[in-house]
Amino acid sequence: MKAVRIHGYHQQPVVDDIPEPKISGPLDVIVKIGGAGVCRTDLHIIEGQWEQAMNPALPYVLGHENAGWIQEVGSAVTNVAVGDTVILHPTPTCGLCHACRAGDDMHCENNSFPGLSHDGGMAEYLLTSARCCVKLDPSTQPKDVAALADAGITAYHAVRKALPLLYPGTSAVVIGAGGLGHIGIQCIAALTAADLTVVDRNPDALKLAEQLGAAHTVVADGNHVAAVQELTKGGAHVVFDFVAEQGAENEGWAMTRRAGSYYVIGYGGELHIPTLDVIGTERNVIGNIVGTYNDLAELMVLAQAGKVTLHTRTYPLAQAPEALADLDAGRVRGRAILVP
Ligand SMILES: [Zn+2]
Ligand SMILES: [Zn+2]
Repeated sequence: MKAVRIHGYHQQPVVDDIPEPKISGPLDVIVKIGGAGVCRTDLHIIEGQWEQAMNPALPYVLGHENAGWIQEVGSAVTNVAVGDTVILHPTPTCGLCHACRAGDDMHCENNSFPGLSHDGGMAEYLLTSARCCVKLDPSTQPKDVAALADAGITAYHAVRKALPLLYPGTSAVVIGAGGLGHIGIQCIAALTAADLTVVDRNPDALKLAEQLGAAHTVVADGNHVAAVQELTKGGAHVVFDFVAEQGAENEGWAMTRRAGSYYVIGYGGELHIPTLDVIGTERNVIGNIVGTYNDLAELMVLAQAGKVTLHTRTYPLAQAPEALADLDAGRVRGRAILVP
């Protein structure tokens, strides 16, 4: 089969011909890929940023945002059958450890990460586990939803965790209305009655944010912290920071009201907060990483109801190097999706 493999860091991946994966374990599942999202994380992998954390054997197949159709199942698989349309939770998990049993499966002690730790889904077929499969309506096109498997689940997970804080009468702020942010805005609009303000440098992104459910938008022009504090009458109950670098992280904290919470989703910056400020105002900093299987299943309910939609641009699998180059150069509107 054709597959997009990384052979070395700081060099373009190559479209190779490799053997198809084979079922070996009873819960193994082989998925015929219908869409594989191209993500900024793939660029970071090529730059070598994930080498230490994941230590993958090279070459291996990229692709961690996958959806398609069940091609073959192991002997103990009961939740999906050949031909089912599925989107895949990004990390196969064991189901047996404390984290899995608590429903925090993204913290599974025995998880793996196809596309980061071993062969992923930028290929005709992917080997994964029955535990990853979220069954979709057969009318769903995998290429339309594949990116929800990583970008979508991460945004949804943060919003889902904050729901008890966002009762009617509260205010929420989203920093960054890009790939993840524009999904987060749709989730907040679909799940809460909070008064939503969106902050971005790009006026076009703010126009889209208004269409997706933002009540107020603020251009990040240097006066945005004061503008948000005024709109939210002293700061937001919850700030979702999809940027969290280049200073946005400390501005996000400053946009949070007393007893409010600052949700970190983007990364790269450093928070500098006096501890007196933390205790004196009882504010919280909340980290967020990917999401649980149930988060993805719930997000797919929203997606299939048309309440969360993705802007996508498709490329044939063989054009993976062009898709990665377009993403790197900022030429992709929405998400780039590879279709085998
Ligand atoms: Zn991703
Ligand atoms: Zn586990």
